[in-house]
Amino acid sequence: MEKRTDPLPAIFVPYAEFFDEDMGAKVPGSISVSDEDGRWLYGCPCGCGTAGALRVAAGEKPAQSPSWLWNGSTEKPTLTPSVHHVGHWHGWLTEGVWLSC
Ligand SMILES: [Zn+2]
Repeated sequence: MEKRTDPLPAIFVPYAEFFDEDMGAKVPGSISVSDEDGRWLYGCPCGCGTAGALRVAAGEKPAQSPSWLWNGSTEKPTLTPSVHHVGHWHGWLTEGVWLSC
C-alpha cells in the first residue's frame, strides 16, 4: 500500500551524512550524491527509512533508463518524470518539495 504524505522538503546532505548505521537514509526526503557512482540517493518520502537511487542529469535526461532530468538546482530541485519508490510512495520532486501523486 503506497502512502500519501504531506509535502516534504528535499534537503541536500553530504554523502558522508546521508546513511544511518544500517545503510538506510537518516532523513526521509533527504538527497545526496553518491561519491561512488554519481547517482542521487534519497530517503523514501514515506518515512520508512529506506534509501533509493536515481540516475539524474541536468540539461538533458541521461540516455540510460530509468533516469531523470534535473533542473540543476540544489536549493529547489525539480526532477522529471515522477519518482516511484515501488510499494511505498509515488510522486514528484518539484521546487525542492516531494509531493504525493
Ligand atoms: Zn518507504
